[in-house]
Amino acid sequence: MQAIFDCENNYGAHNYEPLPVVLVRGEGVSVWDDQGNRYIDMMSAYSAVSHGHCHPKLVNALTHQAKQLAIVSRAFYTDKLGQFLQKLCAVSGQDRALPMNTGAEAVETALKAARKWAYTVKKVPENKAEIVCCEGNFHGRTIAIVGMSSEAQYRYGFGPFPEGFITIPYGDANALRKAITANTAAFIVEPIQGEAGIIVPPKGYLKQCEEICRENNVLLLCDEVQTGMGRTGKFLASDHDHVKPDGIMLGKALGGGLLPVSAFLSRHDVMNVFTPGDHGSTFGGNPLAATIGLAAIDVLFNENLIAQAAELGDHLQSELRQINSPLITEVRGKGLMVGLVINPAYYSARDICLRLLKLGVLSKETHETVVRLAPPLVITKQQLDSVVATIAKVLTAAEAETV
Ligand SMILES: *Cc1c(COP(=O)(O)O)cnc(C)c1O
Repeated sequence: MQAIFDCENNYGAHNYEPLPVVLVRGEGVSVWDDQGNRYIDMMSAYSAVSHGHCHPKLVNALTHQAKQLAIVSRAFYTDKLGQFLQKLCAVSGQDRALPMNTGAEAVETALKAARKWAYTVKKVPENKAEIVCCEGNFHGRTIAIVGMSSEAQYRYGFGPFPEGFITIPYGDANALRKAITANTAAFIVEPIQGEAGIIVPPKGYLKQCEEICRENNVLLLCDEVQTGMGRTGKFLASDHDHVKPDGIMLGKALGGGLLPVSAFLSRHDVMNVFTPGDHGSTFGGNPLAATIGLAAIDVLFNENLIAQAAELGDHLQSELRQINSPLITEVRGKGLMVGLVINPAYYSARDICLRLLKLGVLSKETHETVVRLAPPLVITKQQLDSVVATIAKVLTAAEAETV
């Protein structure tokens, strides 16, 4: 085991700090380490593995298509891409989709679309377009995107950043109203902030933002890379508020836990700003990715995973609230996107994650205080209950050690 840690640490950049476990196999909600120990995965790769590890239908679709045709570039039509885009539009209520690979690329696509829409449709003067974003946001790791971040570590050492981004507090619709000028192209927002620590905004926030955007001819861009694909108990988290965004970014679970697949979705008048050669991606929309993306959406609906996320999410939150521990300061989230906030006076969230790991539950802290609980949506109630029991056990033992 130490040899494996050393190899990764000696030859890799140190841009991650993994928990000390070597995973070798996965199936459904379970993963196994190189010693044969089994874990329940409560992280699901930051929600990329919502369908569970190695979902048989998705693996079948992948291997079948891999033998047929995988990568040809967008220089040609394929028999797979159109169907995938049509499905994406149907389930998201948007007119057109632009396929990319990672979430960050979908966000970059949205930013480019919004700026070009501002210049060509809204008639904002050249190079004056502004995009409003939120404090605490996480939209990925490119230079433009970390330029929008309020997180010092994400930015430090990577400047200079592109201009034209304005940051406002998250959850404050009035701040949006005040930030908008004649040059505002778009407001980019996560319906629930994931990496910030599972931050759920006040009720009605997104609806108010939608109204403000409409009044001012500003695009509402919802980054649903983490919250989309059923994670919060609706296909899109913005569906909870009956909001219809002008643009949506999907990623993570869109790849079915097998491939990086992302997309930017929008209305005709926004997407039509792109003409051949404006923007693209060598791998975006390749037949393998399109096959998996389509199958990933089908599995969500056919296996009723969205309703299950809603029901089991409520159950998880209510069970966690019944754990009577001074170490817990808050339980928050929606669907199977839940944050367990640990009182930093006692332990860091990482301490709790390390203890959970020893008892067969994989999780990862976000920031110092939040234990992220976001299992594959295929988890059963019984499995969830066993996780809650393990969490209760860990907290009781940890509490006993503080006295
Ligand atoms: C993970 C994430 C991204 C970035 O996705 P990558 O695939 O890592 O580039 C963007 N937005 C949100 C909300 C995310 O959670």
